[in-house]
Amino acid sequence: MRVGIKCAVDGALVSDEECLRCRMNDCDRVDTDCGYAYEVLKGIMDSSGRSTAHTSATMLTNSCHRRVWLEQREDYYVDPKVMYPAYRGTMGHIMTEMYPQPGCFYEQRFETIITIDKKKIRITGALDKLNIDEHYIHDFKTKADAKLSRLKVAEESHTMQLNIYRWLVFNGWPQKRMIHKGLTYRKNVPSKIRVDSLKLFYQSMNGVKMFVPPIMDLQDVEEYVYDQARDLIGDIPPIPKDLDPFKSKLCLDWCAVRDYCIQYHLGF
Ligand code: SF4
Repeated sequence: MRVGIKCAVDGALVSDEECLRCRMNDCDRVDTDCGYAYEVLKGIMDSSGRSTAHTSATMLTNSCHRRVWLEQREDYYVDPKVMYPAYRGTMGHIMTEMYPQPGCFYEQRFETIITIDKKKIRITGALDKLNIDEHYIHDFKTKADAKLSRLKVAEESHTMQLNIYRWLVFNGWPQKRMIHKGLTYRKNVPSKIRVDSLKLFYQSMNGVKMFVPPIMDLQDVEEYVYDQARDLIGDIPPIPKDLDPFKSKLCLDWCAVRDYCIQYHLGF
């Protein structure tokens, strides 16, 4: 679980509270002007989920299950740079919610419980936008300009993520009760909401792109969910074939549990 911040200036490991005090100049350390405003740091901290009590669609589709596994079990600190993309995504979602389309639900978290080896696992997914009458789910992603201009099709993990949402609204239920046209969708009762189409809206500071991910068979999605979840509850997953904790940019620059990854690998 994330327990604090790795200072962007001197690498010190500090609690969120110490980090924020530093931003308010109530701090003994010198020259710690990281460039992050107090409001941004607070937003970054709030955007980084600390719960380890559930397994989200985002975790299931993460390209490194070893990282997810370690983040759920070890205490770690994160450089604000690593959390900034999630904060940027939250900004996009807040803007979207400010201008809602009538008849749609926004930011609803659905969940269901699956059982693997007698262990119950809560699978969750936070839907950006759901239209029950017109049977669709839309999702909003933010990207850097350069990445957006290179994007030709929806990212595979995002396609999978939306298909998991589609599976969740049929087999699962909203965490908070939802009422629509006299029907109440409540906890622990499968909502059986039918979704026939998915759309991914990518946004950068300078432009937008939209893709229509393919609809997958619900049975295939369920198998995928079980396979991925099984990976997260067993022993530590192996290092993915396309990653090297000593060389890969993703590991070196973006993984907050890299030290643990290496320790487990080397056996100390
Ligand atoms: S260092 Fe790389 S391989 Fe290891 S957990 Fe992090 S992302 Fe995965």
